Amino acid sequence: MATEKSLKDYHKKRDFTLSSEPFGGDKNTKDENKRIFVIQKHAASSLHYDFRLLVDGVLKSWAVPKGPSTDPKEKRLAVQTEDHPIEYADFEGTIPEDQYGGGTVMVWDAGTYENEKKDKKGNEITMQQQLDKGRCTFILHGKKLQGGYTLIKFGKGDDTNWMLKKVDDEQADARRNPVSTQSKSVLSGRTMAQIKKESNRGKNE
Ligand code: MN
Repeated sequence: MATEKSLKDYHKKRDFTLSSEPFGGDKNTKDENKRIFVIQKHAASSLHYDFRLLVDGVLKSWAVPKGPSTDPKEKRLAVQTEDHPIEYADFEGTIPEDQYGGGTVMVWDAGTYENEKKDKKGNEITMQQQLDKGRCTFILHGKKLQGGYTLIKFGKGDDTNWMLKKVDDEQADARRNPVSTQSKSVLSGRTMAQIKKESNRGKNE
């Protein structure tokens, strides 16, 4: 299965006896065809937002240090990281400090996306085809983010640096700043501090 190969790096980096992150492989194949996205606020050694799109059954992932913007003039660095399993989309909790990615994770935004890219004959250019070309546009239907976004790769080959940019459409809004004004989890309504506190509860008791 292509998914297992894709998750090799994900599994290699983690000790699942110490981290509560999902190993993956539990969801049925129906879920793999869904077009979901998630943005996880991650207070690791440096705070960032993990932007993830489900493509061919795995969550393609980028770490965005400043988080996404709703202003089409803003370009946000997005560093591609290892593919994550679909189960990761619901993960909220605290990874032990001495483990890979140690720190609290919040589901900051989530929803579905659409791919409207078509070739001259009207056939869909798949997300994977777009990613392979280093330029990928999609429409987000999240609770905080809506409308078109584009990921653009800086260099070629193994370069992991991309940028995330809002498409200048009806949902673009230079005055909004959801990263600072909408800081709670869309999954649980919790703050980062509450997630951390509740993850640690029971461990020392
Ligand atoms: Mn992260």
